[in-house]
Amino acid sequence: MRSVTGVLWIMCVSLALAACATTPQPQGGGAPYSMHNLRVCPGMSVSNAPATAEGGVIAGYSPLTVVRDVMLARAPVDGCLSSAFGRRSGGAGSFHDGLDLYTGAPRPVLAGGDGRIASIADKRGYGLVIEIDHGAGVSTRYAHLSALAPEIREGVRVRAGETIARTGDSGNATAVHLHYEILVDGQARDPLMIGD
Ligand SMILES: [Zn+2]
Repeated sequence: MRSVTGVLWIMCVSLALAACATTPQPQGGGAPYSMHNLRVCPGMSVSNAPATAEGGVIAGYSPLTVVRDVMLARAPVDGCLSSAFGRRSGGAGSFHDGLDLYTGAPRPVLAGGDGRIASIADKRGYGLVIEIDHGAGVSTRYAHLSALAPEIREGVRVRAGETIARTGDSGNATAVHLHYEILVDGQARDPLMIGD
């Protein structure tokens, strides 16, 4: 009896270690690598803002989602929502194909999920932009960056929660923020809504 219990205990420890090896380290006491609570930036008028609860917290928000078995962060930077996905009112009323997460000063941008750096480019509009391929036709895009993290190059494998860059205002950004997109088969989807 004792030995069976011992074996079970060892198995549990092994399983726990295996889980540790694949679980990103917590950042700032929130969810592992996605904002635990996401708020609409105080004092900013966000024309396409989702419904909020007390304190500007986005109603029904969950930090992580699963898309085709790929676990992804909905907000992989320490920031607040300055623009949501979808059509923006006012001006040209352009369609916004990602989330804008305002960070004030440049802050670490974390990989939204496990994957491979598919491209790093300096594009008009997007500025310095990274795309991560997560497999299964799922990718994420990080735009307006100010700097790349060391070791981040095309083809490199990254883990969820790994720092890949710092936020900035490169391209057509008017403030330091992360423009974050989740794409499925190349089509941008709403990071706040996609998945379960
Ligand atoms: Zn944007």
